Amino acid sequence: MKSGNLGYPRIGRDREWKKALEAYWSGRLEEEAFHAELKAIRLRNLKVQQEKGIDIIPVGDFTYYDHVLDTAFMFGLVPARFRSTDREPGLAEYYAMARGNREATACEMTKWFNTNYHYIVPELADVKPVLGRNRLVEAYREAKSELGIEGRPVIVGLYTFLKLSKGYKPSELENWIDRLLPLYGQVLRELEAEGVQWVQVDEPILSMSLPAEELFHVARIYDKLTKEAPGIKLLLQTYFESVDHYPEVVSLPVHGIGLDFVHDGGRNLQAVREHGFPSDKVLGAGLIDGRGIWKADLKGRLETLKMLGETVSADRIVIQPSSSLLHVPVNAAMENGLEPTLREALAFADEKLEELVLLTKAGRLGADSIVTEIEASSCSRNALQQSPSRTRKQVHKRIAELANQPATRRSSFDVRRDKQRKRWNLPLLPTTTIGSFPQTTDIRGARLKWRRGEWSGERYEAFIQEQIKVWIETQTKLGLDVFVHGEFERTDMAEFFGEKLAGFAFTASGWVQSYGSRCVKPPILYGDVEFVAPMTVAETVYAQSLTEVPVKGMLTGPITILNWSFVRDDKPRDEVAYQIALALREEVEALEAAGIGMIQVDEPALREGLPLKREQWPHYMDWTVRAFRLSTSAVKDETQIHTHMCYCEFHDMIDSISALDADVISIETSRSHGELIGSFERHTYVKGIGLGVYDIHSPRVPTVEEIGSMIDRALRVLDPAQFWINPDCGLKTRNVEETIASLRNMVKATELAREKYA
Ligand code: GLN
Ligand code: ZN
Repeated sequence: MKSGNLGYPRIGRDREWKKALEAYWSGRLEEEAFHAELKAIRLRNLKVQQEKGIDIIPVGDFTYYDHVLDTAFMFGLVPARFRSTDREPGLAEYYAMARGNREATACEMTKWFNTNYHYIVPELADVKPVLGRNRLVEAYREAKSELGIEGRPVIVGLYTFLKLSKGYKPSELENWIDRLLPLYGQVLRELEAEGVQWVQVDEPILSMSLPAEELFHVARIYDKLTKEAPGIKLLLQTYFESVDHYPEVVSLPVHGIGLDFVHDGGRNLQAVREHGFPSDKVLGAGLIDGRGIWKADLKGRLETLKMLGETVSADRIVIQPSSSLLHVPVNAAMENGLEPTLREALAFADEKLEELVLLTKAGRLGADSIVTEIEASSCSRNALQQSPSRTRKQVHKRIAELANQPATRRSSFDVRRDKQRKRWNLPLLPTTTIGSFPQTTDIRGARLKWRRGEWSGERYEAFIQEQIKVWIETQTKLGLDVFVHGEFERTDMAEFFGEKLAGFAFTASGWVQSYGSRCVKPPILYGDVEFVAPMTVAETVYAQSLTEVPVKGMLTGPITILNWSFVRDDKPRDEVAYQIALALREEVEALEAAGIGMIQVDEPALREGLPLKREQWPHYMDWTVRAFRLSTSAVKDETQIHTHMCYCEFHDMIDSISALDADVISIETSRSHGELIGSFERHTYVKGIGLGVYDIHSPRVPTVEEIGSMIDRALRVLDPAQFWINPDCGLKTRNVEETIASLRNMVKATELAREKYA
């Protein structure tokens, strides 16, 4: 039995990778020094794995930006707008694809399966595939010569690569397989010549719902590849879910199959036991959670290993994380600021390597060989389990009572709408914004001074009030119909609430890569979540005190908070979501009691938690909708609940979104190029709705005409009486001038539309 890893975080303990990239981009670091710095980070990452005693260490998982981009680039898939006639694509073109440049917009970026990592979407239109530098050979050589590591190169599998790419028609898939297969073959042949034994080929797409007929393509690919380089053994690696079509996948002509035994809902284990496992293959057993941050239940994991051992002989098992460790922070031992019970229960990448080694040892020598370690680890887990943070009786009681709580508003939407109309008497096509106004350097600087203790709490609060006042005046001058306070006191919309609710903790360096050099430090939701004191009431009430125009209260919804945090693993996610929802419900009640009549509960990340398997969507939508409603249903009929979402793929969720029962929803629209609007032709949506009338991601000020035509387009399918006018999303990333100019045009366009549609 051996231990193997599938990928290690790139960013370094102190985010030195991020710093190096940004220094290079800004010209502060010369290219040569930059390469040297990245090499040093890469070798340090390998060395950690070597020192922890991992038998099979991945190479080539390191990147200068993103591993999907690396794959595209290696195969010469550089779109024409980034190519010049006089030179081979190099680092400049690589980063232009990722980030855009003066002449060309960047390639699209999107979520890597159901994680918060984002990859660069390969574009296959107008490209000529050709193998460039074989980065896997380079990575393998380097690890061997510098550290004596016989690494296992990692590559994104051809099928997954093509399924994640755009710019070709479904009917051209076979053709693209034929064009890229020889290049994959060549990569493998070159690795073979180099003396490489095993290659890890990542095909996570096999964990999604895949039509059976597509398996034919997968079989063809691996049939060909194993013949191309007969000296190389391929580990076909899946992760994030159970594989669909287990019997077909495990009988593919490869030498090893990697399966996730953590996020598979028990289905992979069941499949192994039911269908067996080919006796000539190696099983990569993903037993340690590659995405969660908690210490493993070693005893439980050993039981799973034992069950696998009934089917697969020990010498054919490699103990692995369930996926690359890219998705977890680097090292938990450094988190000295955390409460010890919490810190002791954490396992980031480095601690997970230790767990892999332990499980492997137990697999070789029996569980007895790691008795003390099992003991210690379950001690830490139990200590957290029994800590006051997880034994909040009130919270448990309320959750137990939930079963008989309906989570519905007092009256139906029609009744509420009439009462709300009477209360505010808003004009046709009311105008509003999504919540945040520009977070200027002044504002960020003030927050920093306050956090550092240079400013007192009072001084900071007074500063925030000043901002609110300025923007209430601005909104008044602009003539908007529903105001916001501007969210100046917030940095991250999940973190802000996490800091104020019980049950969350914040690490000092628990960073994970989100995209490119951008890292996020998710809150750790480790305890029972409970409302402590009002979180948004003071600012909202202050804003409302300055104007007669309604000011929307502004909260982050339970599912967004959940999806943007590292979540405890001892409870099902729905139950954790209900805890958050009940805490937010108290905030909603507090806002209402303070006289706030419109409350917006944002759920931009609702979709991010969608399961990979389509058949699990209804269940997910059920409990997420319920959580949202729990947080919003306590209010009076006259109180208007708003929500906001940031994506445009609305068509497949329209019923669930209606089931949220928000009185008004605002959705990002402009990047969907009319698809979203089209979906209303097929569905009837009756509640208040604002389809963003301009894109806030660009600094460009939209013209009155452009906004007018967006409104016209929407009103072809939606009733003017239900329609709201708002930008696509919050304005915190824009500057003040752009924002005011854009909103001025938005109001003008609305006035024209009112004449037209009255
Ligand atoms: N209310 C938030 C804002 O305006 C919403 C942000 C978001 O949708 N991501 O910034
Ligand atoms: Zn948004």
